[in-house]
Amino acid sequence: MTDALVIGGGPAGLMAAEELARAGHSVLLAEAKPSLARKFLMAGKSGLNLTRAEPLDAFLSHYHPDWVRPYIRAFGPDRVQDFARDLGQELFTGSTGRVFPRVMKASPMLRGWIARLASLGVDIRTRWRWTGFDEESFRFDTPDGPQQIAPRVTVLALGGASWPRLGSDAAWVPWLTAKGVALAPFKPANMGLLVDWSAHMAPHFGAAIKGAALHTDAGITRGEFVLSKRGLEGGGIYTISAHLREGSPLHIDLCPDLTEAEVTARLARQPAKLSVANRIKRALGMDATKLALLNEWGRPLPTAPNALAALIKALPARHAGPRPLAEAISSAGGISHDALTDDLELRALPNVFACGEMLDWEAPTGGYLLTGCFATGLHAGRAAAARLTSA
Ligand SMILES: Cc1cc2nc3c(=O)[nH]c(=O)nc-3n(C[C@H](O)[C@H](O)[C@H](O)COP(=O)(O)OP(=O)(O)OC[C@H]3O[C@@H](n4cnc5c(N)ncnc54)[C@H](O)[C@@H]3O)c2cc1C
Repeated sequence: MTDALVIGGGPAGLMAAEELARAGHSVLLAEAKPSLARKFLMAGKSGLNLTRAEPLDAFLSHYHPDWVRPYIRAFGPDRVQDFARDLGQELFTGSTGRVFPRVMKASPMLRGWIARLASLGVDIRTRWRWTGFDEESFRFDTPDGPQQIAPRVTVLALGGASWPRLGSDAAWVPWLTAKGVALAPFKPANMGLLVDWSAHMAPHFGAAIKGAALHTDAGITRGEFVLSKRGLEGGGIYTISAHLREGSPLHIDLCPDLTEAEVTARLARQPAKLSVANRIKRALGMDATKLALLNEWGRPLPTAPNALAALIKALPARHAGPRPLAEAISSAGGISHDALTDDLELRALPNVFACGEMLDWEAPTGGYLLTGCFATGLHAGRAAAARLTSA
């Protein structure tokens, strides 16, 4: 009989499997896709941001709701970096504290991790898709036909509900709901905004707006974002995406280092014969992309310096709402905190634990998500191992 079944071979599931195997238990890791950790590999395509080098309390403040923070406190940025180094990764920290493997991509770390799991005896089965329960056992579609597994403990690590083509399709939601597990509905997180641009904006697709301040109901953040064919993308927008998703308006300050009075004064000093665009360029040194955005959302631009300054300092973003869940970097929602014990065991299903993005927490991308998945995977794996040892 299998001691431990881990379902889902993303970072959370791999971590849980490792903890169980290290504790000396036999582990079967079942993954629906033909290969493991496809989202982790995708994360590495634009630079695998593993964690952030920042003080722990500041780091933890990015996780919501706060029930998830104790798990991350126990396996925070320093532990994540040690873990990656142990898998042969040389790391570097960028100017904003983001920590990456020197090679930037995820594949060397994943290869090392899979080899280590194999050496610990983890039985990795790909193309094993969990399809629900048959009484007390877990039912799978496998290349060898249907299989049923009745392990002593199980860790679910099935991911959230974004980018379903990489495996996290949330097909499990009705099976857990039917067992009485409370779930919060999935919503997009770290998502871009849809914008129906005019034809004037096409030359600016791919260009970044740097050094702007973003005002929402929750306050002001500084961050970069990119104009894309479909709208706005990038870290600056993702950081405030939870507030935007809940309906907060967004105003963009295109000159955050000057007060409105200073912007007004500079504009007022420009010769009246200049076009408005040239006055803005000369007075403020504004680049073509910012100017295009100002025109797009502020047209017709006011000519009076004070009215123009007010617009530059608080340009209303005329977007058409969040990008859909399937296109978001991550998801909010999932298994509710109330459905879990402190051990991350499902109250409704004794000996079944859960971890990673399938739990109801969210954080900005850029290291916080992966750290949260590693940390909850480690905790769930350890708790499941302790259950086996004590039984
Ligand atoms: C484009 C992109 C870039 C990202 N960049 C970063 C970044 O730089 N830094 C960061 O911190 N985060 C980043 N993330 C987020 C991060 O990759 C995820 O938060 C993380 O992978 C979630 O880990 P997980 O183990 O919980 O779930 P997943 O990685 O989604 O893994 C879940 C696994 O479960 C499997 N599964 C699902 N259903 C079944 C089933 N029925 N049977 C068997 N197996 C099943 C899936 O196939 C999948 O392999 C990025 C995400 C995307 C999409």
